[in-house]
Amino acid sequence: MSGLALSGMLTRQGADVTVLERAQRRRDGLAITLWPNALLALRHSGGEDVYEAVTKVCEPIGAARMFTSRGQVAGIDLGFLVDRFGLSGQGVTRAELLDALAGTAGVDIRYGCEVTGVDPRGTVTLAGGETLRADVVIGADGVGSAVRRALLPPGTGDGRENPLHSWQGVVDRGDWDSPGADFFFTGRGTYGVMPLTGNRAYWFVDGSPDAPPTGAGWPAVISALVDATPADRIFPGEAWDRRPARGWGQGRVTLLGDAAHPMLPTIGQGACMALEDAGVLAARLAAISDPAAALRSYEQDRYPRVHKTFKRARGMLRLRSMPTPVRDRVLASMPGRAMTHLFTAPTIPIPEFR
Ligand SMILES: Cc1cc2nc3c(=O)[nH]c(=O)nc-3n(C[C@H](O)[C@H](O)[C@H](O)COP(=O)(O)OP(=O)(O)OC[C@H]3O[C@@H](n4cnc5c(N)ncnc54)[C@H](O)[C@@H]3O)c2cc1C
Repeated sequence: MSGLALSGMLTRQGADVTVLERAQRRRDGLAITLWPNALLALRHSGGEDVYEAVTKVCEPIGAARMFTSRGQVAGIDLGFLVDRFGLSGQGVTRAELLDALAGTAGVDIRYGCEVTGVDPRGTVTLAGGETLRADVVIGADGVGSAVRRALLPPGTGDGRENPLHSWQGVVDRGDWDSPGADFFFTGRGTYGVMPLTGNRAYWFVDGSPDAPPTGAGWPAVISALVDATPADRIFPGEAWDRRPARGWGQGRVTLLGDAAHPMLPTIGQGACMALEDAGVLAARLAAISDPAAALRSYEQDRYPRVHKTFKRARGMLRLRSMPTPVRDRVLASMPGRAMTHLFTAPTIPIPEFR
């Protein structure tokens, strides 16, 4: 996803870009939230046309409501994001986001090309044995990144920590009526629902991959959405995180997004950080003529931001995992400003993109 966004940004600068994608074709997926920090990065380095194409397939999220067993404990009005940055959070399906990015990137995507090796001089090896050379190689190949593995010292593990399992679906909104996204913190897990275009909703529920969701005993709105989703359109979701390392590239090679810093989806920022990465990397490559120096400058600039966001995502997992009565008390007693800060601080665009 972020590789496609970056390729559009670099093509715009006149670079000759090749996208290598392991999948045979563009994959379906479910939905994510994108926030002003990601969308302004896309506009800054990708241009107005990609921003327009992406926001066209997004549904604005006007507010975020939190519920516990005590009922609604918070309602965060996201209008202040619109006032400051021109838009608030957005719900979007991955398929539509990828279509919008691919449609504006202006690059050929080579599907069915699995990268198996990379060296710091810029040589890429594919599963079939073909090799390619480039001035710059960007590993945007997700949490299990082959590019990252190739750069690691021998024997270093591909550690994935904090596995978080969920089930998800996209379905007609039915009777769900909300000013934005709703989150339910219950003794059985966290549930959420957010709006998508075309009167659809994306829902998720915490849950083991061995036990598909039944909806029984859940908040009524979640039960109704789960019940309305055909069983073969309910998908497991699996996320991990890994503490980011400083200086995640070497020579002419660097990493982007989850390949460098997978984080938990608890604050909806993994894809947003990946798009911010793309915006910053494109800007450094435009400004610094030595490719390796541009990559190191990007890595150095991104580390503090992604490390802080990674920690926030872990912090939210700790909040979600508290004993129910304690968490209910914490959420119910949190002042409105503190709650707004907790949920929206990472969504504020970095100064470079405002
Ligand atoms: C359940 C869940 C909910 C989430 N919700 C949100 C959210 O609301 N907001 C948010 O910002 N983030 C969210 N995220 C995180 C987000 O999905 C990721 O952070 C984001 O997709 C990372 O983008 P990426 O470009 O780094 O990697 P990916 O999107 O994973 O793309 C990697 C690409 O590389 C390809 N690839 C992999 N290996 C190879 C190889 N060897 N050779 C060639 N190609 C290869 C893959 O096929 C894929 O197309 C969520 C994640 C999960 C699991």
